[in-house]
Amino acid sequence: MFRTHTCGELRLDNEGTDVTLSGWVQAGRDFGGLTFVDLRDRYGITQVVFDSDDDAALAERAGKLGREWVVQVKGQVRERTNKNPNRPTGDVEVLARELTVLNRSKVPPFTIEDETDGGDDLRMRYRYLDLRRGPLQQNIIFRSRLALAVRAYLGGEGFVEVETPNLIKSTPEGARDFVVPSRLNEGQFYALPQSPQTFKQLLMVAGYDRYFQIVKCFRDEDLRADRQPEFTQIDCEMAFVTQEDVLNTFEGLTRHLFQEVKGVELGEFPRMQYDEALRRYGSDKPDLRFGMELNDLTALGQGKGFPVFDAAELIVGICVAGGAELSRKQLDGLTKWVKRPQIGAKGLIYVKYNEDGSFKSSVDKFFDQAALAGWASACGADAGDLLLVISGEAEKSRDQLGRLRLHVAEMRDMIPAGVFKPLWVVDFPLLEWDEEHQRFHAMHHPFTSPKREEVDRMLTGDHDTMKSLRADAYDLVINGAEIGGGSVRIYDRGLQEKNFQLLGFTPEEAEAQFGFLMGAFEYGAPPHAGIAFGFDRLCAVMNGQSSIRDFIAFPKNNQGRDVMIDAPAPIDAGQLRELALRVTVDRDGAKS
Ligand code: ASP
Repeated sequence: MFRTHTCGELRLDNEGTDVTLSGWVQAGRDFGGLTFVDLRDRYGITQVVFDSDDDAALAERAGKLGREWVVQVKGQVRERTNKNPNRPTGDVEVLARELTVLNRSKVPPFTIEDETDGGDDLRMRYRYLDLRRGPLQQNIIFRSRLALAVRAYLGGEGFVEVETPNLIKSTPEGARDFVVPSRLNEGQFYALPQSPQTFKQLLMVAGYDRYFQIVKCFRDEDLRADRQPEFTQIDCEMAFVTQEDVLNTFEGLTRHLFQEVKGVELGEFPRMQYDEALRRYGSDKPDLRFGMELNDLTALGQGKGFPVFDAAELIVGICVAGGAELSRKQLDGLTKWVKRPQIGAKGLIYVKYNEDGSFKSSVDKFFDQAALAGWASACGADAGDLLLVISGEAEKSRDQLGRLRLHVAEMRDMIPAGVFKPLWVVDFPLLEWDEEHQRFHAMHHPFTSPKREEVDRMLTGDHDTMKSLRADAYDLVINGAEIGGGSVRIYDRGLQEKNFQLLGFTPEEAEAQFGFLMGAFEYGAPPHAGIAFGFDRLCAVMNGQSSIRDFIAFPKNNQGRDVMIDAPAPIDAGQLRELALRVTVDRDGAKS
Protein backbone atom coordinates (compact mmCIF):
# COMPACT_ATOMS: atom_id res chain seq x y z
CA MET A 1 0.00 0.00 0.00
CA PHE A 2 1.49 3.34 -1.05
CA ARG A 3 -0.46 5.42 1.42
CA THR A 4 -2.98 5.21 4.20
CA HIS A 5 -3.80 8.92 4.06
CA THR A 6 -3.29 11.82 1.69
CA CYS A 7 -1.00 14.73 2.53
CA GLY A 8 -4.00 16.93 3.24
CA GLU A 9 -5.85 14.66 5.60
CA LEU A 10 -4.23 14.33 9.00
CA ARG A 11 -5.58 16.26 11.99
CA LEU A 12 -5.19 16.18 15.76
CA ASP A 13 -7.77 13.38 15.88
CA ASN A 14 -5.20 11.16 14.17
CA GLU A 15 -2.62 11.68 16.94
CA GLY A 16 -0.84 8.42 17.75
CA THR A 17 -1.91 6.70 14.51
CA ASP A 18 0.61 4.87 12.36
CA VAL A 19 0.36 6.22 8.86
CA THR A 20 1.96 5.91 5.44
CA LEU A 21 2.13 8.97 3.20
CA SER A 22 3.36 9.32 -0.35
CA GLY A 23 4.02 12.60 -2.12
CA TRP A 24 6.47 15.14 -3.46
CA VAL A 25 9.13 16.86 -1.37
CA GLN A 26 8.08 20.49 -1.29
CA ALA A 27 10.90 21.65 0.96
CA GLY A 28 13.33 20.35 3.52
CA ARG A 29 14.82 22.10 6.54
CA ASP A 30 17.62 20.93 8.79
CA PHE A 31 17.61 22.00 12.43
CA GLY A 32 20.52 20.30 14.13
CA GLY A 33 19.17 16.94 15.17
CA LEU A 34 15.81 17.43 13.45
CA THR A 35 15.14 17.32 9.71
CA PHE A 36 11.77 18.59 8.52
CA VAL A 37 10.34 17.65 5.17
CA ASP A 38 7.14 19.12 3.76
CA LEU A 39 5.39 16.41 1.79
CA ARG A 40 2.88 17.53 -0.84
CA ASP A 41 0.19 15.97 -2.96
CA ARG A 42 -2.90 17.48 -4.54
CA TYR A 43 -4.76 17.34 -1.23
CA GLY A 44 -2.31 19.36 0.84
CA ILE A 45 1.01 19.47 2.64
CA THR A 46 2.03 17.52 5.73
CA GLN A 47 5.13 18.13 7.78
CA VAL A 48 7.29 15.05 8.32
CA VAL A 49 10.02 15.10 10.94
CA PHE A 50 13.11 12.92 11.14
CA ASP A 51 14.84 12.85 14.54
CA SER A 52 18.51 11.86 14.47
CA ASP A 53 18.26 10.82 18.15
CA ASP A 54 15.76 8.12 17.05
CA ASP A 55 17.50 7.04 13.86
CA ALA A 56 20.62 8.95 12.77
CA ALA A 57 20.99 7.14 9.43
CA LEU A 58 17.35 7.80 8.49
CA ALA A 59 17.67 11.48 9.39
CA GLU A 60 20.78 11.75 7.27
CA ARG A 61 19.01 10.23 4.26
CA ALA A 62 16.11 12.64 4.79
CA GLY A 63 18.56 15.55 4.78
CA LYS A 64 19.66 14.55 1.30
CA LEU A 65 16.20 14.52 -0.32
CA GLY A 66 15.87 16.97 -3.19
CA ARG A 67 12.93 19.17 -4.15
CA GLU A 68 10.19 17.29 -6.02
CA TRP A 69 11.53 13.84 -5.20
CA VAL A 70 8.72 11.35 -4.80
CA VAL A 71 8.92 9.60 -1.45
CA GLN A 72 6.99 7.34 0.83
CA VAL A 73 7.14 7.86 4.56
CA LYS A 74 5.92 5.60 7.36
CA GLY A 75 5.59 7.00 10.83
CA GLN A 76 3.34 8.15 13.63
CA VAL A 77 1.17 11.25 13.85
CA ARG A 78 1.97 13.59 16.74
CA GLU A 79 0.92 17.04 17.83
CA ARG A 80 3.21 19.84 16.72
CA THR A 81 4.78 22.08 19.30
CA ASN A 82 4.77 25.11 16.99
CA LYS A 83 1.52 24.81 15.08
CA ASN A 84 0.98 26.32 11.63
CA PRO A 85 -2.50 27.87 11.60
CA ASN A 86 -2.23 28.55 7.85
CA ARG A 87 -2.38 24.90 6.95
CA PRO A 88 -5.29 22.54 7.54
CA THR A 89 -2.76 19.89 8.62
CA GLY A 90 -0.79 22.46 10.64
CA ASP A 91 -1.58 21.03 14.09
CA VAL A 92 0.23 17.76 13.46
CA GLU A 93 3.35 16.23 12.00
CA VAL A 94 4.44 12.70 11.16
CA LEU A 95 7.44 11.40 13.08
CA ALA A 96 9.10 9.23 10.43
CA ARG A 97 10.25 5.70 10.99
CA GLU A 98 10.82 4.62 7.39
CA LEU A 99 11.65 6.47 4.20
CA THR A 100 11.48 5.08 0.67
CA VAL A 101 12.52 7.11 -2.34
CA LEU A 102 9.99 6.19 -5.03
CA ASN A 103 11.57 8.45 -7.65
CA ARG A 104 14.14 11.19 -7.84
CA SER A 105 13.62 14.49 -9.56
CA LYS A 106 15.92 16.88 -11.33
CA VAL A 107 15.96 20.32 -9.75
CA PRO A 108 12.76 21.87 -11.16
CA PRO A 109 13.29 24.88 -13.45
CA PHE A 110 11.10 27.04 -11.22
CA THR A 111 9.74 26.83 -7.71
CA ILE A 112 6.59 24.76 -7.29
CA GLU A 113 4.94 27.26 -4.96
CA ASP A 114 1.74 29.29 -5.12
CA GLU A 115 3.88 32.28 -6.11
CA THR A 116 6.49 30.92 -8.48
CA ASP A 117 9.67 32.49 -9.87
CA GLY A 118 9.07 30.90 -13.30
CA GLY A 119 8.24 33.12 -16.29
CA ASP A 120 5.37 32.35 -18.66
CA ASP A 121 7.41 30.56 -21.30
CA LEU A 122 9.25 28.33 -18.90
CA ARG A 123 6.06 27.38 -17.11
CA MET A 124 4.35 26.53 -20.40
CA ARG A 125 7.32 24.38 -21.43
CA TYR A 126 7.10 22.47 -18.16
CA ARG A 127 3.33 22.65 -17.88
CA TYR A 128 3.22 19.38 -15.91
CA LEU A 129 5.27 21.08 -13.20
CA ASP A 130 3.22 24.26 -13.39
CA LEU A 131 0.10 22.13 -12.95
CA ARG A 132 1.50 20.88 -9.66
CA ARG A 133 1.19 24.37 -8.20
CA GLY A 134 -1.72 25.07 -5.88
CA PRO A 135 -3.49 27.85 -7.81
CA LEU A 136 -3.50 25.91 -11.07
CA GLN A 137 -4.63 22.72 -9.37
CA GLN A 138 -7.51 24.63 -7.83
CA ASN A 139 -8.47 25.96 -11.26
CA ILE A 140 -8.34 22.58 -12.97
CA ILE A 141 -10.28 20.92 -10.17
CA PHE A 142 -12.81 23.77 -10.22
CA ARG A 143 -13.26 23.15 -13.93
CA SER A 144 -13.88 19.49 -13.33
CA ARG A 145 -16.47 20.20 -10.64
CA LEU A 146 -18.18 22.66 -12.95
CA ALA A 147 -18.32 20.14 -15.80
CA LEU A 148 -19.81 17.52 -13.49
CA ALA A 149 -22.39 20.01 -12.23
CA VAL A 150 -23.34 20.93 -15.82
CA ARG A 151 -23.89 17.28 -16.67
CA ALA A 152 -25.91 16.64 -13.53
CA TYR A 153 -28.14 19.66 -14.07
CA LEU A 154 -28.78 19.25 -17.77
CA GLY A 155 -29.16 15.49 -17.36
CA GLY A 156 -31.80 16.22 -14.73
CA GLU A 157 -33.60 18.53 -17.15
CA GLY A 158 -33.88 15.77 -19.74
CA PHE A 159 -31.00 16.80 -21.97
CA VAL A 160 -29.33 14.01 -23.95
CA GLU A 161 -25.54 14.15 -24.26
CA VAL A 162 -24.57 13.42 -27.86
CA GLU A 163 -21.07 13.53 -29.33
CA THR A 164 -20.70 15.12 -32.73
CA PRO A 165 -17.80 14.58 -35.13
CA ASN A 166 -14.61 16.62 -35.28
CA LEU A 167 -13.72 15.84 -38.88
CA ILE A 168 -16.40 17.78 -40.70
CA LYS A 169 -16.72 20.59 -43.16
CA SER A 170 -16.92 24.27 -42.53
CA THR A 171 -19.44 25.56 -39.99
CA PRO A 172 -19.28 29.31 -40.24
CA GLU A 173 -19.10 31.01 -36.85
CA GLY A 174 -17.16 33.91 -38.27
CA ALA A 175 -13.62 32.60 -37.89
CA ARG A 176 -11.16 30.76 -40.13
CA ASP A 177 -11.33 26.98 -40.17
CA PHE A 178 -8.56 24.65 -39.13
CA VAL A 179 -8.30 22.07 -41.87
CA VAL A 180 -7.12 18.46 -41.90
CA PRO A 181 -5.98 16.81 -45.15
CA SER A 182 -7.61 13.52 -46.03
CA ARG A 183 -5.29 10.68 -47.07
CA LEU A 184 -8.08 8.54 -48.45
CA ASN A 185 -9.47 11.44 -50.48
CA GLU A 186 -6.38 13.09 -51.88
CA GLY A 187 -6.56 16.82 -52.32
CA GLN A 188 -9.59 17.07 -50.02
CA PHE A 189 -9.80 18.46 -46.54
CA TYR A 190 -11.91 18.19 -43.46
CA ALA A 191 -12.54 21.31 -41.41
CA LEU A 192 -12.51 21.10 -37.63
CA PRO A 193 -15.81 22.35 -36.19
CA GLN A 194 -15.97 25.96 -35.11
CA SER A 195 -18.95 24.60 -33.19
CA PRO A 196 -21.32 21.62 -33.57
CA GLN A 197 -23.97 24.05 -34.87
CA THR A 198 -25.28 22.14 -37.89
CA PHE A 199 -25.12 18.78 -36.13
CA LYS A 200 -27.12 19.92 -33.15
CA GLN A 201 -29.77 21.28 -35.48
CA LEU A 202 -29.83 17.93 -37.28
CA LEU A 203 -30.32 16.25 -33.90
CA MET A 204 -33.43 18.37 -33.46
CA VAL A 205 -34.67 17.24 -36.89
CA ALA A 206 -33.91 13.71 -35.66
CA GLY A 207 -36.24 14.26 -32.74
CA TYR A 208 -33.82 14.32 -29.79
CA ASP A 209 -35.56 17.42 -28.46
CA ARG A 210 -32.95 18.45 -25.87
CA TYR A 211 -29.27 18.01 -26.67
CA PHE A 212 -26.13 19.05 -24.87
CA GLN A 213 -22.45 18.39 -25.12
CA ILE A 214 -19.34 19.73 -23.41
CA VAL A 215 -17.37 20.01 -26.58
CA LYS A 216 -14.14 21.27 -28.11
CA CYS A 217 -14.47 23.93 -30.81
CA PHE A 218 -11.71 25.10 -33.12
CA ARG A 219 -11.31 28.60 -34.51
CA ASP A 220 -8.25 29.87 -36.30
CA GLU A 221 -8.24 33.42 -34.98
CA ASP A 222 -5.67 35.89 -33.76
CA LEU A 223 -5.15 35.07 -30.12
CA ARG A 224 -5.55 37.11 -26.98
CA ALA A 225 -5.53 36.27 -23.32
CA ASP A 226 -9.17 35.26 -23.45
CA ARG A 227 -8.97 33.30 -26.71
CA GLN A 228 -7.55 29.91 -27.55
CA PRO A 229 -7.54 28.15 -30.94
CA GLU A 230 -9.28 25.22 -29.31
CA PHE A 231 -11.70 25.95 -26.54
CA THR A 232 -14.66 24.29 -24.88
CA GLN A 233 -18.36 25.02 -25.08
CA ILE A 234 -21.36 23.83 -23.16
CA ASP A 235 -23.37 23.40 -26.33
CA CYS A 236 -27.15 22.96 -26.27
CA GLU A 237 -30.14 22.83 -28.54
CA MET A 238 -33.85 22.46 -27.81
CA ALA A 239 -36.90 21.78 -29.99
CA PHE A 240 -40.42 23.21 -29.61
CA VAL A 241 -39.16 26.17 -27.62
CA THR A 242 -39.26 29.93 -27.85
CA GLN A 243 -36.44 32.31 -26.94
CA GLU A 244 -38.12 32.68 -23.56
CA ASP A 245 -37.82 28.94 -22.85
CA VAL A 246 -34.13 28.93 -23.72
CA LEU A 247 -33.37 31.96 -21.56
CA ASN A 248 -35.22 30.47 -18.61
CA THR A 249 -33.54 27.08 -18.93
CA PHE A 250 -30.07 28.57 -19.10
CA GLU A 251 -30.71 31.10 -16.38
CA GLY A 252 -31.60 28.02 -14.34
CA LEU A 253 -28.36 26.29 -15.30
CA THR A 254 -26.27 29.38 -14.51
CA ARG A 255 -27.95 29.88 -11.13
CA HIS A 256 -27.43 26.24 -10.30
CA LEU A 257 -23.74 26.29 -11.24
CA PHE A 258 -23.00 29.38 -9.16
CA GLN A 259 -24.92 27.96 -6.24
CA GLU A 260 -23.54 24.43 -6.46
CA VAL A 261 -19.90 25.11 -7.27
CA LYS A 262 -19.35 28.54 -5.68
CA GLY A 263 -22.07 28.85 -3.09
CA VAL A 264 -23.14 32.13 -4.71
CA GLU A 265 -26.80 33.08 -5.04
CA LEU A 266 -27.12 35.12 -8.23
CA GLY A 267 -29.48 38.08 -8.26
CA GLU A 268 -31.76 39.10 -11.07
CA PHE A 269 -30.98 38.33 -14.73
CA PRO A 270 -32.19 41.54 -16.32
CA ARG A 271 -32.78 41.71 -20.07
CA MET A 272 -31.52 44.52 -22.22
CA GLN A 273 -31.96 45.08 -25.91
CA TYR A 274 -28.82 45.20 -28.00
CA ASP A 275 -29.50 48.81 -29.05
CA GLU A 276 -30.00 49.89 -25.48
CA ALA A 277 -26.77 48.20 -24.36
CA LEU A 278 -24.84 50.10 -27.00
CA ARG A 279 -26.55 53.34 -26.17
CA ARG A 280 -26.08 53.11 -22.41
CA TYR A 281 -22.77 51.29 -22.17
CA GLY A 282 -21.14 51.49 -25.58
CA SER A 283 -20.89 47.71 -25.60
CA ASP A 284 -22.99 44.66 -26.35
CA LYS A 285 -21.57 43.07 -23.22
CA PRO A 286 -21.98 45.72 -20.56
CA ASP A 287 -20.39 45.32 -17.18
CA LEU A 288 -23.18 46.16 -14.74
CA ARG A 289 -21.06 46.03 -11.61
CA PHE A 290 -20.78 49.81 -11.76
CA GLY A 291 -22.71 52.70 -13.35
CA MET A 292 -20.97 55.47 -15.29
CA GLU A 293 -23.40 55.18 -18.20
CA LEU A 294 -22.99 56.98 -21.50
CA ASN A 295 -25.00 60.20 -21.99
CA ASP A 296 -25.90 61.72 -25.33
CA LEU A 297 -24.69 65.33 -25.43
CA THR A 298 -25.15 65.90 -29.16
CA ALA A 299 -27.93 68.47 -28.89
CA LEU A 300 -26.15 70.37 -26.10
CA GLY A 301 -22.76 70.36 -27.78
CA GLN A 302 -23.63 71.42 -31.30
CA GLY A 303 -24.19 74.88 -32.68
CA LYS A 304 -21.75 76.61 -30.31
CA GLY A 305 -19.01 77.05 -32.87
CA PHE A 306 -16.80 74.14 -31.87
CA PRO A 307 -16.05 72.60 -35.29
CA VAL A 308 -15.19 69.11 -33.99
CA PHE A 309 -18.56 68.81 -32.29
CA ASP A 310 -20.49 70.41 -35.11
CA ALA A 311 -19.09 67.86 -37.56
CA ALA A 312 -19.82 64.91 -35.28
CA GLU A 313 -22.65 62.45 -35.68
CA LEU A 314 -22.65 61.92 -31.92
CA ILE A 315 -21.26 63.60 -28.82
CA VAL A 316 -21.27 61.32 -25.86
CA GLY A 317 -19.99 61.61 -22.30
CA ILE A 318 -19.54 59.76 -19.03
CA CYS A 319 -19.47 61.14 -15.53
CA VAL A 320 -16.59 59.94 -13.37
CA ALA A 321 -17.68 60.29 -9.76
CA GLY A 322 -15.12 62.24 -7.75
CA GLY A 323 -12.98 62.56 -10.87
CA ALA A 324 -12.46 66.33 -10.65
CA GLU A 325 -9.43 65.49 -8.51
CA LEU A 326 -7.60 64.03 -11.50
CA SER A 327 -4.38 65.86 -12.30
CA ARG A 328 -3.52 67.36 -15.66
CA LYS A 329 -1.07 64.52 -16.12
CA GLN A 330 -3.72 61.89 -15.43
CA LEU A 331 -6.09 63.53 -17.89
CA ASP A 332 -3.33 63.64 -20.52
CA GLY A 333 -2.77 59.97 -19.79
CA LEU A 334 -6.45 59.22 -20.51
CA THR A 335 -6.28 61.24 -23.73
CA LYS A 336 -3.27 59.22 -24.82
CA TRP A 337 -5.07 56.03 -23.87
CA VAL A 338 -8.09 56.74 -26.10
CA LYS A 339 -5.85 57.85 -28.96
CA ARG A 340 -3.99 54.52 -29.07
CA PRO A 341 -4.70 52.67 -32.32
CA GLN A 342 -6.54 49.92 -30.41
CA ILE A 343 -9.12 52.50 -29.27
CA GLY A 344 -8.76 54.94 -32.14
CA ALA A 345 -10.38 58.12 -30.76
CA LYS A 346 -9.26 61.43 -32.21
CA GLY A 347 -9.25 63.10 -28.83
CA LEU A 348 -10.86 63.37 -25.41
CA ILE A 349 -12.58 66.36 -23.90
CA TYR A 350 -12.90 66.83 -20.18
CA VAL A 351 -15.03 68.99 -17.94
CA LYS A 352 -14.14 69.28 -14.27
CA TYR A 353 -17.08 70.14 -12.02
CA ASN A 354 -15.09 71.84 -9.27
CA GLU A 355 -16.08 71.58 -5.62
CA ASP A 356 -16.87 75.33 -5.64
CA GLY A 357 -19.47 74.75 -8.36
CA SER A 358 -17.42 76.23 -11.21
CA PHE A 359 -16.44 74.31 -14.34
CA LYS A 360 -13.07 73.93 -15.98
CA SER A 361 -12.89 72.22 -19.34
CA SER A 362 -10.61 71.67 -22.29
CA VAL A 363 -13.17 73.50 -24.47
CA ASP A 364 -13.68 76.65 -22.36
CA LYS A 365 -13.13 78.71 -25.50
CA PHE A 366 -16.39 77.49 -26.97
CA PHE A 367 -18.57 76.72 -23.98
CA ASP A 368 -19.40 79.03 -21.10
CA GLN A 369 -20.20 77.97 -17.55
CA ALA A 370 -23.92 77.70 -18.24
CA ALA A 371 -23.33 75.42 -21.22
CA LEU A 372 -21.02 73.20 -19.20
CA ALA A 373 -23.56 73.13 -16.37
CA GLY A 374 -26.05 71.82 -18.94
CA TRP A 375 -23.74 68.95 -19.81
CA ALA A 376 -23.17 68.20 -16.16
CA SER A 377 -26.85 67.95 -15.47
CA ALA A 378 -27.40 65.78 -18.57
CA CYS A 379 -24.78 63.41 -17.17
CA GLY A 380 -26.09 63.55 -13.60
CA ALA A 381 -22.83 65.04 -12.34
CA ASP A 382 -22.28 66.63 -8.94
CA ALA A 383 -19.58 68.98 -7.73
CA GLY A 384 -16.31 67.04 -7.57
CA ASP A 385 -17.12 64.93 -10.63
CA LEU A 386 -15.47 64.81 -14.02
CA LEU A 387 -17.03 64.50 -17.47
CA LEU A 388 -15.15 62.73 -20.23
CA VAL A 389 -16.52 63.36 -23.70
CA ILE A 390 -15.87 61.77 -27.08
CA SER A 391 -17.37 62.75 -30.41
CA GLY A 392 -17.40 61.55 -34.00
CA GLU A 393 -19.13 58.77 -35.83
CA ALA A 394 -21.86 57.34 -33.57
CA GLU A 395 -20.96 53.69 -33.46
CA LYS A 396 -17.24 54.29 -33.07
CA SER A 397 -17.63 57.01 -30.44
CA ARG A 398 -19.85 54.81 -28.31
CA ASP A 399 -17.42 51.94 -28.57
CA GLN A 400 -14.45 54.15 -27.66
CA LEU A 401 -16.21 55.70 -24.69
CA GLY A 402 -17.47 52.26 -23.62
CA ARG A 403 -13.92 51.05 -23.40
CA LEU A 404 -12.79 54.19 -21.63
CA ARG A 405 -15.59 53.56 -19.14
CA LEU A 406 -14.08 50.17 -18.31
CA HIS A 407 -10.56 51.56 -18.17
CA VAL A 408 -11.53 54.37 -15.81
CA ALA A 409 -13.51 51.98 -13.59
CA GLU A 410 -10.46 49.77 -13.24
CA MET A 411 -8.11 52.68 -12.73
CA ARG A 412 -10.29 54.15 -10.00
CA ASP A 413 -11.11 50.84 -8.34
CA MET A 414 -14.81 51.19 -8.99
CA ILE A 415 -15.43 47.49 -9.66
CA PRO A 416 -16.50 45.65 -6.51
CA ALA A 417 -14.77 42.31 -5.96
CA GLY A 418 -16.74 39.08 -5.55
CA VAL A 419 -19.87 40.52 -7.17
CA PHE A 420 -21.56 38.82 -10.15
CA LYS A 421 -23.90 40.76 -12.42
CA PRO A 422 -25.57 38.65 -15.09
CA LEU A 423 -27.45 40.15 -18.00
CA TRP A 424 -29.27 38.84 -21.06
CA VAL A 425 -28.63 40.98 -24.11
CA VAL A 426 -31.45 40.33 -26.59
CA ASP A 427 -32.76 41.45 -29.98
CA PHE A 428 -29.47 41.47 -31.85
CA PRO A 429 -29.60 42.56 -35.49
CA LEU A 430 -29.83 39.65 -37.90
CA LEU A 431 -27.23 41.02 -40.30
CA GLU A 432 -24.25 43.28 -40.05
CA TRP A 433 -23.29 45.48 -43.02
CA ASP A 434 -19.60 45.41 -43.92
CA GLU A 435 -18.94 48.78 -45.52
CA GLU A 436 -15.44 47.89 -46.68
CA HIS A 437 -16.42 44.74 -48.54
CA GLN A 438 -19.94 45.96 -49.34
CA ARG A 439 -21.60 42.82 -48.03
CA PHE A 440 -23.63 41.46 -45.15
CA HIS A 441 -22.29 39.18 -42.42
CA ALA A 442 -24.47 37.17 -40.11
CA MET A 443 -24.37 38.89 -36.73
CA HIS A 444 -24.64 35.54 -34.92
CA HIS A 445 -24.46 32.87 -37.61
CA PRO A 446 -26.32 32.08 -40.85
CA PHE A 447 -28.79 29.73 -39.15
CA THR A 448 -30.26 32.41 -36.92
CA SER A 449 -33.87 33.27 -37.55
CA PRO A 450 -35.21 36.79 -37.92
CA LYS A 451 -37.93 37.57 -35.41
CA ARG A 452 -41.13 35.95 -36.54
CA GLU A 453 -42.73 39.33 -37.21
CA GLU A 454 -39.74 40.28 -39.38
CA VAL A 455 -39.98 37.33 -41.79
CA ASP A 456 -42.16 39.13 -44.34
CA ARG A 457 -39.88 42.17 -44.32
CA MET A 458 -36.93 39.86 -44.85
CA LEU A 459 -38.52 38.09 -47.79
CA THR A 460 -39.71 41.25 -49.51
CA GLY A 461 -37.71 44.21 -48.20
CA ASP A 462 -34.99 46.31 -49.79
CA HIS A 463 -31.36 46.69 -48.80
CA ASP A 464 -32.03 49.15 -45.97
CA THR A 465 -34.76 46.91 -44.60
CA MET A 466 -32.20 44.11 -44.31
CA LYS A 467 -29.98 46.32 -42.20
CA SER A 468 -32.79 46.86 -39.73
CA LEU A 469 -33.93 43.24 -39.31
CA ARG A 470 -33.88 41.97 -35.73
CA ALA A 471 -33.18 38.39 -34.75
CA ASP A 472 -34.22 36.21 -31.87
CA ALA A 473 -30.58 36.10 -30.85
CA TYR A 474 -29.31 36.51 -27.32
CA ASP A 475 -26.11 36.61 -25.29
CA LEU A 476 -25.56 35.91 -21.62
CA VAL A 477 -23.15 38.44 -20.17
CA ILE A 478 -21.67 38.27 -16.69
CA ASN A 479 -19.50 41.10 -15.38
CA GLY A 480 -18.88 42.37 -18.88
CA ALA A 481 -17.78 39.01 -20.27
CA GLU A 482 -19.77 37.21 -22.92
CA ILE A 483 -20.49 33.86 -21.33
CA GLY A 484 -22.64 32.50 -24.10
CA GLY A 485 -24.85 33.19 -27.02
CA GLY A 486 -27.48 31.55 -29.10
CA SER A 487 -30.55 32.06 -31.21
CA VAL A 488 -33.85 30.77 -32.44
CA ARG A 489 -33.08 28.98 -35.71
CA ILE A 490 -34.46 29.03 -39.19
CA TYR A 491 -36.14 25.68 -39.86
CA ASP A 492 -37.61 26.37 -43.25
CA ARG A 493 -35.70 25.75 -46.45
CA GLY A 494 -36.96 28.86 -48.24
CA LEU A 495 -36.01 31.23 -45.44
CA GLN A 496 -32.62 29.58 -45.05
CA GLU A 497 -31.99 29.99 -48.78
CA LYS A 498 -32.95 33.63 -48.54
CA ASN A 499 -30.53 34.14 -45.67
CA PHE A 500 -27.68 32.55 -47.59
CA GLN A 501 -28.51 34.74 -50.56
CA LEU A 502 -28.33 37.87 -48.38
CA LEU A 503 -24.99 36.67 -47.09
CA GLY A 504 -23.65 36.56 -50.62
CA PHE A 505 -23.86 32.82 -51.33
CA THR A 506 -24.92 31.77 -54.82
CA PRO A 507 -27.62 29.06 -54.71
CA GLU A 508 -24.96 26.58 -55.88
CA GLU A 509 -22.54 27.55 -53.10
CA ALA A 510 -25.28 27.36 -50.50
CA GLU A 511 -26.29 23.94 -51.77
CA ALA A 512 -22.71 22.66 -51.90
CA GLN A 513 -21.94 23.78 -48.34
CA PHE A 514 -25.23 23.41 -46.55
CA GLY A 515 -27.44 21.34 -48.81
CA PHE A 516 -27.48 18.61 -46.16
CA LEU A 517 -29.04 20.95 -43.61
CA MET A 518 -31.53 22.55 -45.97
CA GLY A 519 -32.40 19.06 -47.20
CA ALA A 520 -33.07 18.00 -43.61
CA PHE A 521 -35.42 20.97 -43.21
CA GLU A 522 -37.61 19.30 -45.85
CA TYR A 523 -38.17 16.25 -43.66
CA GLY A 524 -40.17 17.63 -40.79
CA ALA A 525 -37.80 19.95 -38.96
CA PRO A 526 -39.33 21.14 -35.68
CA PRO A 527 -39.00 24.74 -34.54
CA HIS A 528 -35.83 24.84 -32.49
CA ALA A 529 -33.40 27.14 -30.72
CA GLY A 530 -30.19 26.83 -28.78
CA ILE A 531 -27.26 28.36 -27.07
CA ALA A 532 -23.63 27.68 -26.26
CA PHE A 533 -21.68 28.84 -23.21
CA GLY A 534 -17.94 29.36 -23.36
CA PHE A 535 -16.90 26.88 -20.72
CA ASP A 536 -13.33 28.12 -20.25
CA ARG A 537 -14.52 31.69 -19.90
CA LEU A 538 -17.26 30.71 -17.48
CA CYS A 539 -14.59 29.09 -15.29
CA ALA A 540 -12.46 32.24 -15.41
CA VAL A 541 -15.34 34.66 -14.75
CA MET A 542 -16.65 32.59 -11.84
CA ASN A 543 -13.21 32.96 -10.30
CA GLY A 544 -12.90 36.67 -11.02
CA GLN A 545 -10.09 36.09 -13.50
CA SER A 546 -9.66 37.28 -17.04
CA SER A 547 -7.34 34.71 -18.60
CA ILE A 548 -8.95 31.47 -19.74
CA ARG A 549 -5.51 29.94 -20.14
CA ASP A 550 -5.21 29.31 -16.43
CA PHE A 551 -8.29 27.10 -16.59
CA ILE A 552 -7.05 24.93 -19.45
CA ALA A 553 -4.69 22.12 -18.52
CA PHE A 554 -2.62 22.33 -21.68
CA PRO A 555 -3.22 25.66 -23.43
CA LYS A 556 -1.49 27.18 -26.42
CA ASN A 557 0.55 30.37 -26.32
CA ASN A 558 -0.10 33.61 -28.24
CA GLN A 559 1.34 32.16 -31.41
CA GLY A 560 -0.98 29.18 -31.14
CA ARG A 561 1.91 26.94 -30.14
CA ASP A 562 2.08 24.22 -27.55
CA VAL A 563 5.66 24.83 -26.46
CA MET A 564 5.72 21.70 -24.30
CA ILE A 565 5.11 19.20 -27.09
CA ASP A 566 6.43 21.67 -29.70
CA ALA A 567 3.39 21.77 -31.96
CA PRO A 568 2.63 22.62 -34.66
CA ALA A 569 5.60 20.96 -36.38
CA PRO A 570 6.63 20.02 -39.89
CA ILE A 571 5.69 16.54 -41.09
CA ASP A 572 8.03 14.29 -42.99
CA ALA A 573 8.23 13.96 -46.74
CA GLY A 574 6.61 10.53 -46.75
CA GLN A 575 3.57 11.78 -44.91
CA LEU A 576 3.28 14.72 -47.29
CA ARG A 577 3.48 12.41 -50.29
CA GLU A 578 0.77 10.19 -48.87
CA LEU A 579 -1.45 13.22 -48.47
CA ALA A 580 -0.55 14.52 -51.92
CA LEU A 581 0.61 17.80 -50.37
CA ARG A 582 3.52 20.04 -51.21
CA VAL A 583 4.77 22.59 -48.68
CA THR A 584 5.87 25.85 -50.23
CA VAL A 585 7.42 27.39 -47.16
CA ASP A 586 10.68 26.46 -45.44
CA ARG A 587 11.32 26.22 -41.72
CA ASP A 588 12.17 29.91 -41.50
CA GLY A 589 8.94 30.86 -43.16
CA ALA A 590 10.42 31.72 -46.58
CA LYS A 591 8.03 30.84 -49.39
CA SER A 592 9.23 29.07 -52.52
N1 ASP B 1 -22.96 27.78 -32.28
C1 ASP B 1 -23.11 29.04 -31.62
C2 ASP B 1 -21.76 29.57 -31.18
O1 ASP B 1 -20.78 28.83 -31.14
C3 ASP B 1 -24.00 28.98 -30.43
C4 ASP B 1 -25.41 28.73 -30.79
O2 ASP B 1 -25.96 29.47 -31.60
O3 ASP B 1 -25.99 27.82 -30.20
O4 ASP B 1 -21.65 30.72 -30.81
